[in-house]
Amino acid sequence: MAESRKGNTTGKKTPRCIICGRTEKDGALLIGREEGCICTDCVENIHSYLSENQPSASRSNFAAQVKEDFKLLSPQQIHKYLDQYVIGQDEAKKFLSVAVYNHYKRILHKSSETQDLEIEKSNVLMVGPTGTGKTLLARSIAKMLHLPFAIVDATVLTEAGYVGEDVESILTRLLQDADYNVEKAEMGIVFIDEIDKIARKSDNPSITRDVSGEGVQQAMLKILEGNIVNVPPQGGRKHPEQKMIAVNTQNILFICGGAFEGIDKKIAQRLNTKVVGYGVQERAKDIDKKELLRYIAPQDLRSYGLIPELIGRLPVITYLHPLDKTALRDILTNPKNALVKQYKLMFKLDGIDLEIEDQVLDLIVDTAVKYNLGARGLRSICEAIMVDAMYEAPSSRKKNFTVTVKYAEEKLAAFTGSMLI
Ligand code: ADP
Repeated sequence: MAESRKGNTTGKKTPRCIICGRTEKDGALLIGREEGCICTDCVENIHSYLSENQPSASRSNFAAQVKEDFKLLSPQQIHKYLDQYVIGQDEAKKFLSVAVYNHYKRILHKSSETQDLEIEKSNVLMVGPTGTGKTLLARSIAKMLHLPFAIVDATVLTEAGYVGEDVESILTRLLQDADYNVEKAEMGIVFIDEIDKIARKSDNPSITRDVSGEGVQQAMLKILEGNIVNVPPQGGRKHPEQKMIAVNTQNILFICGGAFEGIDKKIAQRLNTKVVGYGVQERAKDIDKKELLRYIAPQDLRSYGLIPELIGRLPVITYLHPLDKTALRDILTNPKNALVKQYKLMFKLDGIDLEIEDQVLDLIVDTAVKYNLGARGLRSICEAIMVDAMYEAPSSRKKNFTVTVKYAEEKLAAFTGSMLI
């Protein structure tokens, strides 16, 4: 070995790895020239060292980024940011802005300043008809904050041991979005959609277990309340041999959403029973019967079938309005990525100026209202009108294209016709 370090008998130096010093004789596979070789084992070691240590670097960047965002955004600024993407829903925006702002305060001022006084987490429950912007609000918030974000549908969850997904899979999604960086995931936001679908199925305890209703609510408690939860990295069902990742949910913000169809009757019932005694006339008169959701209270959720423990962990309750025609029309044109802006851009990329007559927008809105499609339907109505034009535009030499009411009506006739079949 000592001889080989100096060189071989012909006076030529034996190539060796500049890091570990091994030669090919020692079994090293060398890359490079005589003077500067490196063996494949050392390359591998360096690679794994770097990939193991990289996350900690990005972690500190992440914490810095979080701090930066926090400095920038007050609740009012968060509200303004949301205005760019979501039309109306001011009440929900206000509640969410405050919840998110406080969420940040809790994360960033955890140390010395608060000492043993702990700011409790304020998970949010948004109640409102489907397609009114609940998911969009949650998604926009996550986008603004550069935080890991996961959307989970509560209907796929079941109590452990039954067909379906364990509640821990909620956190799997968050981990995936955080590239399995646990620290990052622990500051994330989870949107649990269709929370109303896990309401208790009936008031009477029956012989069949309510595995997708009350069972899931019970299982969800331990996630919502801030615990160390063992999460299966690939989601699905847990099994004994699987390696788990421990995630602390204390700082994860949970935003739940649900349509709670029929809850207005429960609200009405409560309001009626409450409205007894002095000042009855006055209060009954004040109640806006068309929008009973604005009076939603924890006891209504309880009579709808949510268990009190779960309601207790969702202290911020807010509601979303149904979207009227004006709101639907604004959705078409105003948000940062409004549908009309998207179509214009698509045509622009083909060198065509797209014009859409104002009445066409009214027609789209009227169709959405007529068939009760809500904001979600706007997209398919637009597609029905635009598909032929988008098919023909790339091969035409036109420099501009105007969608007239007549054109739109023709295209829509086929679409709505097929919907009626
Ligand atoms: P949900 O309340 O059922 O979660 P979503 O947020 O998923 O409804 O809304 C569905 C789609 O409808 C959104 O992607 C968006 O395009 C549109 N939309 C709904 N409500 C609004 C709103 N208030 N402002 C802008 N777009 C909206």
